Amino acid sequence: MKKLIILGSTGSIGTQALDIARANPDKYTVIALAAGSNIDLLEKQAREFGVKAVALFDEAAAADLKIRLADTDIVVLSGAYGVCELAAYDCDIVLNAIVGIAGLRPTLAAIDAGHTIALANKETLVTGGEIVNRKLKEKGVTLLPVDSEHSAIFQSLQGVPKDSLKKILLTASGGPFFGKTRDELQNVTVKEALNHPNWSMGAKITIDSASLMNKGLEVIEAVHLFHVPASKIEVLVHRQSILHSAVELSDGAVIAQLGTPDMKLPIQYALTYPERDMCFEQLDLLKVGTLTFECPDYDTFRLLPLCIEAINRGGLYPTAINGANEESVKLFLEGKIKFLQIAELNEKAMNLCEDKKDFTVEDIFAADQAARRVVREAI
Ligand code: NDP
Repeated sequence: MKKLIILGSTGSIGTQALDIARANPDKYTVIALAAGSNIDLLEKQAREFGVKAVALFDEAAAADLKIRLADTDIVVLSGAYGVCELAAYDCDIVLNAIVGIAGLRPTLAAIDAGHTIALANKETLVTGGEIVNRKLKEKGVTLLPVDSEHSAIFQSLQGVPKDSLKKILLTASGGPFFGKTRDELQNVTVKEALNHPNWSMGAKITIDSASLMNKGLEVIEAVHLFHVPASKIEVLVHRQSILHSAVELSDGAVIAQLGTPDMKLPIQYALTYPERDMCFEQLDLLKVGTLTFECPDYDTFRLLPLCIEAINRGGLYPTAINGANEESVKLFLEGKIKFLQIAELNEKAMNLCEDKKDFTVEDIFAADQAARRVVREAI
């Protein structure tokens, strides 16, 4: 029996992780759950899994939930501090599936508590990669990637000597706007941007996939996870989303992980590692037929090269572009800016970021706030 804590349990990754726990009641006990403000679903999940504690970031929603759960022994925590307190509850593994930089502090709290972490929240490593890696080493804690590409790289590297890795081949679906020109992107709608060809995901990451910001964030994530410079990561557009990424080794061998576009496999692998478990959907290569690989259009989808520039500059630049992006994607989803403005605003905020090499968690949150202000004030 593995004791699980799921942060972001009401989201796309969180609900799929609970599907896995539901399908394997003999293997997992869900100890605690956290979300932002979705009180109805969190209450339902808490009752179904009989958890010890829940946390809601939204304090008013947490107060409401406390009243609703008064007939149970479930502890209700609230606010950013409550989510961190929950992440430190006794368990075997914490799955962090919170969206955005809000996931950073709970990751750090889970590491401090000595818990193994299954990390979906890519913003943790984008903003706090250096600090997280130092803390993992200090505490002897294991962090397992959940992002499908990074899970594929991690799986492909099993048994590979460290110095044999020559290059990472990071695949991208290309999103709904692959092949479009800047002119054609001028007036794309929120609905069109949310229409991902292969993956069903939360709204923020779906927009990031349409702009290729997601691939940029993933390059930064891979730098921190696999300790390679961005120059050793090649992004390949692979429209079928079957080959989830690969590694090229010193002798020319290329090792990849393939599967259907279903997040349950990488979520489950992080929960069972190094063991393998049940199959949710078998890949049929005959049905797939053809796998294609193309070069990304770096001129039209500028957020990918901008993220690479951010990680090459280092310091707080990745935090700045990430914070600006969280804000500009929110504005795009609210219909307040156009799709192409996301890249313009993110670039502006990144270029105004303070050049600081040694930084603390507080500096990260200050840089995040500053970048968000730049975006808000520019519209
Ligand atoms: P969703 O938007 O579907 O879900 C986000 C979850 O985070 C919800 O449970 C939400 O709660 C919770 N949340 C939001 N803000 C806070 C906060 N301040 N404190 C605590 N919880 C909070 O996102 P996804 O599941 O799509 O993505 C989650 C993470 O996983 C992201 O970092 C994404 O990049 C990454 N990822 C996602 C993939 C996918 O297939 N979806 C694939 C690979 C990576 P509430 O519902 O109450 O708002």
